[in-house]
Amino acid sequence: MSDKVTLKTKPSKIDVVGDSWVLHFPRFGEEGTHFHTYGLLTPYFKGLTEGKLRGTKCVNPKCPIYKGKGELWIPPRADCPDCHQPMVWEDVKDPKGYIYAYTHVERGGAGLEIECPYYQIDVKMEGVGTIVKGYLADRKKIKIGDKVRAKFLTGKDATNTCLDIYWELT
Ligand SMILES: [Zn+2]
Repeated sequence: MSDKVTLKTKPSKIDVVGDSWVLHFPRFGEEGTHFHTYGLLTPYFKGLTEGKLRGTKCVNPKCPIYKGKGELWIPPRADCPDCHQPMVWEDVKDPKGYIYAYTHVERGGAGLEIECPYYQIDVKMEGVGTIVKGYLADRKKIKIGDKVRAKFLTGKDATNTCLDIYWELT
């Protein structure tokens, strides 16, 4: 077995409608293709395919919680859950953090596209308000607190899904 995790995912076809991506997901063969749009969150998914991690934050000074100084949310939200105003996009310059929690996945359910076994990890990043979920490419034994860095599937390797970001031990 390889010391790195691989994906079974084939690149998903996308249509561009306005500023939004519409993903083709042939879950049950061509006839069973599921279509869904990333809508206002398209910049997040497009960013991953370009090697960028983007989040959103609330900058509304009238927000009852953030008062114009929102934390960065990853994955992003289009609108603030507290004041319901549009949030603004911001790139994470050097996406790294530490393992906050993890699960060792030995057997996945039907449709799982990550080769088992692998670690599903929660990453705490400085300057990011949320805990970011993802998968670790390494199969070495890990512990909480280990440092990780984000990596991306870009260009022709991109799947156009949330699996285009993964993590490696530093
Ligand atoms: Zn707000």
